[in-house]
Amino acid sequence: MKKLIFLLLIIPNTLFAQINFDDYFLPKTLRFDYTRAGNSDTSYVFFEQIKEEPFWGGSKVNLVDKFNFGDYRLMLYDSTGTKLIYSRGYSTLFREWIDTKEAKRTSRSYYEAVVMPFPKHKAILRLQNRDKKNVFHTVFEYEIDPQSYFIVKDKYDKYPVEKLHGKQNPEKALDIVVLPEGYTEAELPKFRKDVKRFIGYFFKVKPFKQNRDKVNFWIVNVPSQESGTDIPGEGIWKNTILNTHFYTFDSERYLTTRDVNTIRNLAAYAPYDQIYILVNTSKYGGGGIYNYYNLCMADNEYAEQVFTHEFGHAFAALADEYQYGYTNADELYDMSVEPWQVNITNLVNFESKWKNMVEKGMPIPTPDTEEYRNRVGAFEGAGYVHKKIYRPVYDCKMRSNQTDDFCPVCLKTVNEMLDFYTK
Ligand SMILES: [Zn+2]
Repeated sequence: MKKLIFLLLIIPNTLFAQINFDDYFLPKTLRFDYTRAGNSDTSYVFFEQIKEEPFWGGSKVNLVDKFNFGDYRLMLYDSTGTKLIYSRGYSTLFREWIDTKEAKRTSRSYYEAVVMPFPKHKAILRLQNRDKKNVFHTVFEYEIDPQSYFIVKDKYDKYPVEKLHGKQNPEKALDIVVLPEGYTEAELPKFRKDVKRFIGYFFKVKPFKQNRDKVNFWIVNVPSQESGTDIPGEGIWKNTILNTHFYTFDSERYLTTRDVNTIRNLAAYAPYDQIYILVNTSKYGGGGIYNYYNLCMADNEYAEQVFTHEFGHAFAALADEYQYGYTNADELYDMSVEPWQVNITNLVNFESKWKNMVEKGMPIPTPDTEEYRNRVGAFEGAGYVHKKIYRPVYDCKMRSNQTDDFCPVCLKTVNEMLDFYTK
């Protein structure tokens, strides 16, 4: 009998073999930089450089991604190329760009970077793209030799780093590094004060509210030459450290930057899981891309709402639950499969989404009437599309600035992600 119990215990462990961090990794970061170039039809990856960075901010237990989110995926295998030792889903600005009209008539390149714990031994990196049917394919493979003297080792002592919140060990914390954009040397004290205000906003929202001790906030004090950010539509151009700008893809409020290299160089001053760029402007705008970066304006009446909305994108890969620019779903989605984002559905396979959270008797699709407000259903209009893409509740932090809460579906996902980073 004793033997049987032992066997029962051992079998599941073998099936889901945990990667022992110390067998494969050193507690610092390997950053792999590349350019992704192409257009709406095709794209390629070109190697740029490998860097060694001083900290590892991620989990040492949850190394293999269990979420299957993101348009892209980094897969790191041992030297035989068969054992997966680290993986992470992510999205990028290039992936958004290929849905624009510009990508139909021209090709462009975007700098991208992925991070992973620093391998002790040779390892095989594979970059994968998700196709329209949600299947991942390897588009680039590279053998990483951790002994190579071409791995770039920079010094990280030029700018002061400070921890503004949290006491948890980085491997058990969600570490958020906040970078200042468009703050001059004289404005750096304002940056520090602004971040403190945003930390206050952050912990007003569930589930962060109940998990204050699981989150660390870091700042890196880097000045910009000029104050503010670029506003191309108004002819305003500023010399700033991270080269952010409004009017991304000609959407006035879409605040982003293509300067991923500088962002990663500065983020590396602290252990981090998420990068937040705070932009010293009062003009309404922001941006958030899954495991890529977050941006938010510093001084606007909606700063509080936008800050956590963008974090929903970058941290938990949540889709926007509003309509914007597209009438028909097939302009953006393959309607034969579910969109990969957890909080939108085309009802092709609703069971794989939040159907189990819908009360009995709830009509699906759910009519947009008073009686169904605040209840989980499937409301038409989400993911930038008016028709045939549905969202879980009438309103959610991922839909509007009118509510302070994530809907139950978004909240569940954010909670699971928080667990993944902190357990
Ligand atoms: Zn939601």
